[in-house]
Order: sequence, then structure tokens, then C-alpha cells
Amino acid sequence: MAEKHEMASVPFVHRTKAANAAVDFAAPAVQVKVGQAATTFFVNGDLLCSTSDYFKTVLKQEWREGKRRVVELPTDAADSFNAYMNWLHNRTVVLGYNDGQNPLLEINFDDLTDAYALGDKLLDGDFKDAVTDAVVVSMNTKDDNGNCVLPGAPDAHIYTLPNCIIPEPEAFDFAAPALVVKVGSPATTYFVNEHLICNASMYFATAMKQEWREGRRRVLDLCDENPKTFNIYLNWLYRKKLVIGYTEDQNAVEHSKWSCLVNAYILGDKLIDPDFKDVVTDAMVLLYLTKRHAGVRVYPGCSHRVKLYENTTEGSKARKLFVHLFAAYKTPHAEIERDPKEFLVDLTRSLMLGTQEDFEKTAKTCLFHEHKDGVCYRSKLQLQ
Ligand SMILES: [Zn+2]
Repeated sequence: MAEKHEMASVPFVHRTKAANAAVDFAAPAVQVKVGQAATTFFVNGDLLCSTSDYFKTVLKQEWREGKRRVVELPTDAADSFNAYMNWLHNRTVVLGYNDGQNPLLEINFDDLTDAYALGDKLLDGDFKDAVTDAVVVSMNTKDDNGNCVLPGAPDAHIYTLPNCIIPEPEAFDFAAPALVVKVGSPATTYFVNEHLICNASMYFATAMKQEWREGRRRVLDLCDENPKTFNIYLNWLYRKKLVIGYTEDQNAVEHSKWSCLVNAYILGDKLIDPDFKDVVTDAMVLLYLTKRHAGVRVYPGCSHRVKLYENTTEGSKARKLFVHLFAAYKTPHAEIERDPKEFLVDLTRSLMLGTQEDFEKTAKTCLFHEHKDGVCYRSKLQLQ
């Protein structure tokens, strides 16, 4: 794929996904019952099968026999399975230390051993590798710069504590009942982990606070939204992958879609999820720098500009990006009659200020990102 679908170098490029590689989060969940007390986890079956050969085999068997979508793991610990869920859904390895403790001194090796044994049973190589990395990192001492030095290593390898390793109190509880989110009309129903979505989206955090205050059902209606776009959001939330509208047999560069990204950005704006908005503006940059039609760059069309301006407010980073890329290349693509007035004003202002210098260089900075003092999603995912 690399040679055939050559894409511009933007940090997150390997996280883009074809539309038909997206997990369908509206599909019914598999119930995994863990431990003697049969603690129940509801998990997306496709997601489980995409990483664990154990689940792939067991669920294939279940489906062939037309059985219930229930898998029992009576001899495993619910805590270990919850650690696995945190890895699967959030790419974090939970260690047994508390906030404020030194993870290197307080590490709980029993937890790590249990997690490794579970990864071994579930045949999930990535999870096992993440756990062994956590062990390696934990076993080493810090140098003056806070890096961990492997004692006795001939090349004095330096390991920094991977930022995917988190203290126990920050783990999400995946055994908690899911939120029901009804999207579009007629509604498509999604079951979403409440901690995960409330942690990422201020919209959900606020709405759920309201729900609890009023003692209502844990159901949220997003009847004006498009299920397809919400599924893109969930693929990011659960897998840190961004679906950008092409299918696997298509050329990623040719078939990625501006409409897909504009819709995703507008949803991210409504849900108040800055990381998602930032990854979407990065994808816009990638699409702009890479996609060619008959050798010519493909700009977001007038209908996309209208849609973006109608659904966002002044100061929006995607607006800023659109203006920058039109100003940077001084192309006469703006349409005086049809373009939103605000866009034309922004563009004129940008040209007058001369902010149209090296677009590619600018795009690699955080100029089109939401976070100000917060941590960039690229750093969270170690993409820089
Ligand atoms: Zn950033």
C-alpha cells in the first residue's frame, strides 16, 4: 500500500483507515463473563476478533452453531480483563500504582503477570508486547532526566516510560453498564462505554451529568446526526483510527473524501472533543497535500466551505485551515457569488496580512489544533 498509495508525511498517517476496515459499532455486542462472579463486559465482537485469535476462534464457533454471543472466562480475573479492555479500547496499559506514586517503585508485578497470562491465552500479541514493555520499563531506574536506564546494557539503552502506561485510578471500568446513544432518524443504536466517551467529549460529560441529576435513563438522542459519521467518531474513540472515506480496494489518495472529513469535524465540534477535531484537521492537511486529480491539488469544494461555515463559529480551527490553504497557494478558487461571506472576509484578511507562507511547514505545527496548553494528541499517541 505504501508505494501505490503514497501519502504526504503527516505524523498520524498510519492511523488512517479505509471505510470498509471500519468496525461497525452499531453491531450487537458480545457478552464476556469473567471470573467466579461472572462480571459481565459488553464488547464489540469485530473489535475483539481483530486483535485476539482466541475470540476469533471461539466466536466463529458460536456463530456457526447459532448460539448466544456469550463467552465465559470463569478462571480469569475481572481486573485483568478490565486491564485488557483498557488496552483494547484506549491503548493504555494499567499498572498497579496510584496517582502520585512513583510507578517505577510501586509497580505491581502480580498485575502485570496476570495481564501477560491473559494476553497469552487470548492470543493477542500486541497486548503481550505492551505488557512486556511495561515490565522492561518498570524494572529500570531513572537517570537525572527522568529516563529509565536499562542496567548493564552495553549500549546504555534509554527507555522513557511510554505514555500509554497509566496508573490504576485512571483506568476505565468497562464492566460498568453502557450508555445507549441513538443516532439519526430512524435511529441506529450504539452502546458506548460511559467513562471513555465522557472523558473525551465535554458534550457527553455535561449531558450525562444532567441525566444523573434528573435520575433519567442512560439514553442520549442525537437524532440530527448521521450514524455513519458517529461510527467514524467511535472508530477514533475506541481504536484511535480515523476512517477517511475510501474503501480498501481503492487508492487512498484518490478516494479520500472532503465531505467525510467536514462532517467528522462538525460532529467533533458539537461533541466538544478537541483530540478528534485535531486528528480530523491533520487528515484534512494530509488529503490536501496528497490528493491530485489530473495532477492538480483537490481543494475542499464550495459546498464543503458553505457547510463548514454554516456549522462552526468564528475561531474554528478548520475554518482557519481552509483559509490558510486557499491563501497559501493563491489559487482563484473562491467563488464570490456562492462562498460564505465570512469565508471571503477571512481569506481577504489572511492575504492582506501575508499569512500565506510555507503551508506544509505550518501544517506540521499545532497551528490548526484546538489544544492550547493541553497535550497534543500526537504526543499522547507518541506520533512525534
Ligand atoms: Zn497539536
